Amino acid sequence: NQILNKMKQEYCSSNIAYNTWVAPLTVYEVKDNTVYILVKLKASLEHIEEKYLLPFKVCIAEITGVEYEVAFVTENTAVIQEKKDIAVKNTRVNAIYEKANLNPKYTFDTFVVGSNNRFAHAASVAVAESPGESYNPLFLYGGVGLGKTHLMHSVAHYILKHDPSKKVLYVTSETFTNELIEALKVGKNGNEMAMTSFREKYRNNDVLLIDDIQFIIGKESTQEEFFHTFNNLHLAGKQIIISSDKPPKDMETLEARLRTRFEWGMIADISSPDYETRMAILRKKEELDGLEKYHIPDEVMQYIANNIKSNIRELEGSLNKLIALSNLENKPIDIPLAAEALKDMISPDDNRAVSPELIIEVVSEHFNVPVAELKGKKRNAEIVLPRQIVMYLCRNMTDTPLKSIGALLGGKDHASISHGVKKIEQDMKTDEALNNTINIIRKKINPI
Ligand code: ADP
Ligand code: MG
Repeated sequence: NQILNKMKQEYCSSNIAYNTWVAPLTVYEVKDNTVYILVKLKASLEHIEEKYLLPFKVCIAEITGVEYEVAFVTENTAVIQEKKDIAVKNTRVNAIYEKANLNPKYTFDTFVVGSNNRFAHAASVAVAESPGESYNPLFLYGGVGLGKTHLMHSVAHYILKHDPSKKVLYVTSETFTNELIEALKVGKNGNEMAMTSFREKYRNNDVLLIDDIQFIIGKESTQEEFFHTFNNLHLAGKQIIISSDKPPKDMETLEARLRTRFEWGMIADISSPDYETRMAILRKKEELDGLEKYHIPDEVMQYIANNIKSNIRELEGSLNKLIALSNLENKPIDIPLAAEALKDMISPDDNRAVSPELIIEVVSEHFNVPVAELKGKKRNAEIVLPRQIVMYLCRNMTDTPLKSIGALLGGKDHASISHGVKKIEQDMKTDEALNNTINIIRKKINPI
């Protein structure tokens, strides 16, 4: 009923539309992450599918907090069966990628090759074509937002696409560390299984990808455990792919035995894109995100490519911001508007001050929670924790008053910000994994 209510209020143009199409629908069953909705009148199936599939997905996700697939079925069981088969098949394919923690957008097809990444790209393709047999490990390094994660995911997608039976696991070194912390904690309480299943998870792979390895530096038990994981996989001829912000030789406090191992295979760097590559990336994004309809003039693209030089994430972000600004203020997309959109990102020495906006962006990306959700009102744990971390970091990394932090977070009051900050402070006293996570986010916000 809640879902129907929401549909009525938000997606039906009139009461008649609601009563005719939506009100008679019932849930047939919920299975394999799909909600099957029964359409009694077969003739209306097509219309309902066309008009209400997406709204139902949105309403169901908002009310249950789970992103279900939605399929409409009629009483004709043959149709029901067929749809189930398709849904099961889709879930299976998605499950493989999900299990490997992969972003479906990060593939070789969407990766623009330029002089800054040509070598890293070629090495990645070689590894993707024959994992474990060409370069092992493959070590990719480069600054923030230059495409390391994108390239790693591309390799993983390629391998899975050509052989879905391969066991591929992508994790950040933060996840590796935090899972180890948890396993050790449980182990202390006398449960040996925790460490066994941790080791099982990381060693039982054909391909292991570890992103941002720099964050395990200085953490002794993590380095030790990773050393054994590495040896185990390498000895068995399994592929290892590592990314870092710097080459092994510059990772000064990294244990020497790990450093030499990182140098066994192939080391490839990704540097800042040149102007042509920046333009090509903007064009690619325009195409992939269907932005052609905005007819962004060449000179505006050139303006962006000329001004955002060192970070591809910001290059993409500035395009999004420009379009949002044009929609919001109803202004044409031209150079003055671009200048306004980019004003926080351009700075002569590239030494940006930490702003609450930057904190929100980095936390959003880190937890894969949209900015709108951080600013929203939902109270699921997956959103509340990142939101409180934003409050805490704004408080600690900037001198923004509590009231303004509240305003930036979609109009929350002084008391709830203060509560959020205190909650994180309190939890950090006992939660080692949370400490680790917050440290990593801090370094992402301000690497110096
Ligand atoms: P890093 O892991 O090095 O910090 P990411 O891989 O997360 O960087 O890249 C940041 C953003 O820039 C992502 O959205 C990614 O898709 C995009 N990107 C980076 N390099 C390229 C490229 N060569 N072609 C297209 N998009 C790219
Ligand atoms: Mg990355």
